[in-house]
Amino acid sequence: MNEISWDVAVIGGASAGLSAALMLGRARRRVIVIDAAAPRNRFAAHMHGLLGHDGRPPADLLADGRREVESYGGRIITATATRTRRDGDGFAVETADGEVVRARKLLVTTGARDELPDLDGLAERWGRGVAVCPYCDGYEVRDQRIGILATGPGSEFQAQLLRQWSPSISYLADAVGGPGGETRDAFDARGIHVEEGPVRRVVSRNDRIAGVEMADGRLIELDAIFTIPRLVPRDEPLRQLGAERTEHPWGSFVTVDENGQTSVDGVWAAGNVVNAMANVAVSIGAGAVAAGAINHALVLDDVRRAVSAVAPAPAESE
Ligand SMILES: Cc1cc2nc3c(=O)[nH]c(=O)nc-3n(C[C@H](O)[C@H](O)[C@H](O)COP(=O)(O)OP(=O)(O)OC[C@H]3O[C@@H](n4cnc5c(N)ncnc54)[C@H](O)[C@@H]3O)c2cc1C
Repeated sequence: MNEISWDVAVIGGASAGLSAALMLGRARRRVIVIDAAAPRNRFAAHMHGLLGHDGRPPADLLADGRREVESYGGRIITATATRTRRDGDGFAVETADGEVVRARKLLVTTGARDELPDLDGLAERWGRGVAVCPYCDGYEVRDQRIGILATGPGSEFQAQLLRQWSPSISYLADAVGGPGGETRDAFDARGIHVEEGPVRRVVSRNDRIAGVEMADGRLIELDAIFTIPRLVPRDEPLRQLGAERTEHPWGSFVTVDENGQTSVDGVWAAGNVVNAMANVAVSIGAGAVAAGAINHALVLDDVRRAVSAVAPAPAESE
């Protein structure tokens, strides 16, 4: 079993983690990134809304990021962190391969996973015609036929939001029931069509969405489907350290301050693991902010150590 000592261990090496590792490497910190190499947007061929990289394959951005981190001496290992614990003044991270990484500070940037509605044909098209984020994928299907596969109260606004991109919106209300009252009036006012019956499956043709088949056999023709999956943070390392959580309407997430500091001294978190709304740009930014805060904390530790090393020994009492 290897035992290594680092200034910072980053668990999760995609947008948030690599951004932090780049900043830390440039701050001349010894940084190691432990990454299982399964970023949330790996299902999408192209990424949108990231200034300077609009339309780029997500994997290309991360490949560049890895090269940049390594160019400053950062080490990146492809591994899954399975156990994280306090270890003296710092932390020990055990990987599935049996490696133990020891570091003074810890940053968790492990992202989140999407639990899709259980509908035949849906998962196969995730990121390829089925999407969650209109800012990421709405423009590409502007003015086309868009279905909103409702999963909860947020779906009603998702329908109104997508109406910004297309006049042809079908609200598939199967899982939640048709909207009533003011919501229905607002749908009618903006021409949002409601399908209340059960949806049987997503139909694809020629590697594209063709529509949804209803239980009564009708095909509702569509070019794209938007839905809000349940977002589950991959926050096991933070759970293992006992980090405090906040219950939000959209789920339970570990609590962080504006710099990504958790309730556990010496542990930060950034990106989707603590922020359900973080797109790539926000995750990169959050990683950079956390890296600055971590380096700040390390400098203060270094000052304390230096001062105590030169402090005169206390005089012996008679
Ligand atoms: C289909 C789809 C399309 C999207 N398109 C866009 C878009 O066009 N534009 C945009 O801005 N956003 C888009 N997003 C959102 C984007 O995916 C997230 O904003 C972004 O991935 C968050 O980055 P992150 O670094 O926080 O987490 P992630 O990218 O999920 O990275 C987390 C990393 O940590 C690793 N990891 C997890 N657990 C462990 C562990 N225990 N040990 C080691 N490593 C671990 C994972 O393998 C992964 O590599 C899309 C999302 C989806 C689902």
